[in-house]
Amino acid sequence: MEEKKVLSMQNKCAGCGANLVFNPKSQDLFCDKCEAHYQIENDGQIVLHDLTQSVQKDKKYDDFVSQNKMFKCPNCGASVMLNQFEISKKCPYCEAGLVIEEDNFPGIKPDAVIPFQFNKEDAAKNFVNGVKKKFFVPNKFKKNMPASDINGIYIPAFGYSAKTTSVYDGELYEEHETKDADGNSTTERTYFKVSGTHSAEFNDVMVESSSKITQAEINGFLPYKTTGRKNYSNQYILGYSVEHYNQTVQECVPTYKSIVTKSIRAQILRKYEYNGVNYLNVSTEYNDEKYLYYLIPVYKFEYEYKKKKYITYMNGQTGRVDNNVPKSGLKIAFAILLPLLIVLIPIIIGIILGAGD
Ligand SMILES: [Zn+2]
Ligand SMILES: [Zn+2]
Repeated sequence: MEEKKVLSMQNKCAGCGANLVFNPKSQDLFCDKCEAHYQIENDGQIVLHDLTQSVQKDKKYDDFVSQNKMFKCPNCGASVMLNQFEISKKCPYCEAGLVIEEDNFPGIKPDAVIPFQFNKEDAAKNFVNGVKKKFFVPNKFKKNMPASDINGIYIPAFGYSAKTTSVYDGELYEEHETKDADGNSTTERTYFKVSGTHSAEFNDVMVESSSKITQAEINGFLPYKTTGRKNYSNQYILGYSVEHYNQTVQECVPTYKSIVTKSIRAQILRKYEYNGVNYLNVSTEYNDEKYLYYLIPVYKFEYEYKKKKYITYMNGQTGRVDNNVPKSGLKIAFAILLPLLIVLIPIIIGIILGAGD
């Protein structure tokens, strides 16, 4: 692969010259050495873009992702390699937070960043608490959690907004049990037609555009409170590993539309009382479609349990832990059998009492 030289920026402490990194606790730049804080300049409004004016990939973008990029760490002078989509990382030699200068990003620039709300140490505590609340996790694992590699990363994502009007028609049914003279029960269905129009509004439907994570994975720790978003400044990402988008706004549209479609169907069905759906046709018109390019904070936990490798993600804003954790087969079996036992126990008791007659 070809290598390209790019310029990077860093922030130095005015007092002692040490490196500054973003501090989630105080939401500012912090100097580890002399403990000075520096406010992040964050002016200007976040303006949503019209989806009709979304930008396609161009040659500059293609060049950027097809090359490994080198920059000289301005702090220690080492050559630091960025791979494919990376725009920011910690210098592996001196730990300085480095970000490619914004003018060197190809394609569209991030509009908004949702800053990390807690640091790595607090992420580790949240992880323990989050996992303890999960019923399916083995007790052994809860009592003795293995050491984990924790990495804070910002994931590129597009947040889509739209107003929708849907026309629908379908057939639903209700089920009820009937008993014949011999006491045999059968289930009967009553079908009924439904139709109408349904309007809805969607804001910040998040679709990942990262090479590192899948939509199914981010669904495990969504949502983010987008009221906490900030106008993008590279100071928020200093010290973190960050990637540029790897799919364009247009390329992510099918994912956003499938999320919206699913939600519209659920909203329509909630209007009715029914036991099942025979069919439901929905045709939707989208209006006022907008998007924002977000960087969203994620903690990635990598560990081993019973010789198996696990990756668990945590929302870096809310602390929500996804379900990619060790699971106890026994507990799952119990959860499946419990409802059955509840039905069976009175019958068994009945039999026993009956036998005693
Ligand atoms: Zn300092
Ligand atoms: Zn360095």
